[in-house]
Amino acid sequence: MPNRFIVGNWKMHNTISQAETLIQEILGIYQANPSVELAVAPPHVALQAVARLLAPTPITLAAQNVCAKDEGAFTGEISPPMLKELGCQYVIIGHSERRHLFGESDEAINEKIHAALRHELQPIFCIGERLEEREAGQTHSVIQRQLQKGLVGLEPKDLGNVTIAYEPVWAIGTGRAATVEQATEVHAAIRSSLTTHWNLNSEQIRILYGGSVTADNAHALFQSPHINGALVGKACLNSESFVKIAEIAALD
Ligand code: PEP
Repeated sequence: MPNRFIVGNWKMHNTISQAETLIQEILGIYQANPSVELAVAPPHVALQAVARLLAPTPITLAAQNVCAKDEGAFTGEISPPMLKELGCQYVIIGHSERRHLFGESDEAINEKIHAALRHELQPIFCIGERLEEREAGQTHSVIQRQLQKGLVGLEPKDLGNVTIAYEPVWAIGTGRAATVEQATEVHAAIRSSLTTHWNLNSEQIRILYGGSVTADNAHALFQSPHINGALVGKACLNSESFVKIAEIAALD
């Protein structure tokens, strides 16, 4: 199995100086452990300052979004080469807030994944159903559609550089995390779909769970062999809870 992977998605929180303070707090208490990779995804404007502080550490850097184009007349967008030069190793693509608040389609997300991979940025590809879809019994069809359309055109070798994050929309920012059974069921379906459609050993693909992960529920979630880590929102804005989640991931 791959190492566990804990990613902190800061969303639109922290100015540059606040970002530097949070990173310094994290570095003050975090003891790196080879069984866990820790990454942070600050807002774009703080990437350079955070990259400088993380350079001598094993903590890796992710961006929260990327444009599918390399350059051109795309006002307000940030390209893959720009993120690469800033020191990003990863980029979150298809987060539910991008899908539902900013109208990103499966097709647009697929373009971004291809663009990121062309520039050796590793996508953290988010998928997840809304509450009404779960209640209508559509969880698996939604996940399959997002997976198939989001990954169309990728070769099995590309998938080795993609991390998948299952984030049920109803669990994001609500304090209502999926149970380990609910998450495991979907993670297992994702794995089996990767094996069937791309003919690869899906055990090598990291599948994270995201949605109200805290230091209190992380232990239970990491009991599942299908859950390779977490994409953490609110709890990553506090250095102690973020580091605690990483420690739990290492212990389990
Ligand atoms: C997220 O935004 O990806 C997320 C999982 O947020 P939270 O942990 O706050 O639910």
